[in-house]
Amino acid sequence: MSQHERILLSSPHMSGNEQKYIQQAFDTNWIAPLGPNVDAFEKELAEYVGVKDAAAVSSGTAAIHLALMLLDVQKEDTVFCSSLTFIASANPILYQGASPVFIDSEPDTWNMSPQALKRAFSDAEKAEKLPKAVIIVNLYGQSAKMDELLAICDDYNVPIIEDAAESLGATYKGKKSGTFGKFGVYSFNGNKIITTSGGGMLVSDDVEALKKARFLATQARDVAPHYQHSQMGYNYRLSNILAGVGRAQLEVLDDRVATRRAIFEKYKNALGEIDGIQFMPELKETFHNRWLTTLIIDQEKLGYAPLELIEYLSNENIESRPVWKPLHLQPLFKETPYYPHTVDRSVSEELFSTGICLPSGSNMDEQQQTLVIKMILRFNKEKSMEKLVLTD
Ligand SMILES: *Cc1c(COP(=O)(O)O)cnc(C)c1O
Repeated sequence: MSQHERILLSSPHMSGNEQKYIQQAFDTNWIAPLGPNVDAFEKELAEYVGVKDAAAVSSGTAAIHLALMLLDVQKEDTVFCSSLTFIASANPILYQGASPVFIDSEPDTWNMSPQALKRAFSDAEKAEKLPKAVIIVNLYGQSAKMDELLAICDDYNVPIIEDAAESLGATYKGKKSGTFGKFGVYSFNGNKIITTSGGGMLVSDDVEALKKARFLATQARDVAPHYQHSQMGYNYRLSNILAGVGRAQLEVLDDRVATRRAIFEKYKNALGEIDGIQFMPELKETFHNRWLTTLIIDQEKLGYAPLELIEYLSNENIESRPVWKPLHLQPLFKETPYYPHTVDRSVSEELFSTGICLPSGSNMDEQQQTLVIKMILRFNKEKSMEKLVLTD
């Protein structure tokens, strides 16, 4: 067992300015889910990504839920959703009593496959049951193929919710990730590229819709001197203290992206030449935020499965993880329709069985990363020697 502190996948990285905004909240006694930090955080984020408005909420999941409500998703409706993602992308579909239909990834971005989406739409049209919305995820900080996906959804006139929880700071053809759909969603959970410990943001150019989002997120309280409610609401607003943390984090977002990209480069330089290791690609004309450095392992060539490497690293006190388990494989969604990339190829299943996420936190130091690389190289060498013995 190693003596060093555990090297984590992605841990919170404070800038030092957070206390300043928190102190302002205390000094003015704005200890509430509204206040100057919330207003400023919304405005600053909207400016950063280039949208008309943003609504700060308690989580990325809450933001997705609000987007579905604003698009009037209800019981009996279907919503198309990327399969290779975290469960939070799809849970809000269930909150609304609606049903997901899962769409596979394509190999260039690991995100939603336009050809699978096309087949899903074609079937839905035949069944006269188009989805109410399409949730497109930008995995690990890489934008999906937006031109292709937007064109298909536009053809059917179905709105997009862009789940950019992992891709804040990334771009697609020069435009910020999260600004392509009717609604975009960001997360500030503790492991994300910037964090408020917990929080999220719903963005849109539809200012009226976001007004409604804030209303629904504040218990749907009607304008009246007393407490009056004519519809069901939620308590989804972000605290003014946490919004202060968010403001300071947003100031360093571009630095965080640069650092994560540098971490990726270092991994790639050290491991990229190994026959059997392939890093997650960066699509042409996109800018990946490299939230997590991820790679796939060719078990035939290397003689080991991702889980063996993950366990080896864990014993060395290094956290790494498999790629997201596709939602269509989750027990929760076992009867749910799924459209693979091609009829005989499921890309998300391939990525799940071959992929691994490496420690990528922007607060990881040089030495820590060098150690991770050293351990991977050592494991790789041990396995290739075993393989030689076995095949001799
Ligand atoms: C983190 C994440 C979310 C959820 O965000 P929370 O703020 O944790 O609710 C949604 N989608 C994806 C892809 C995520 O990675």
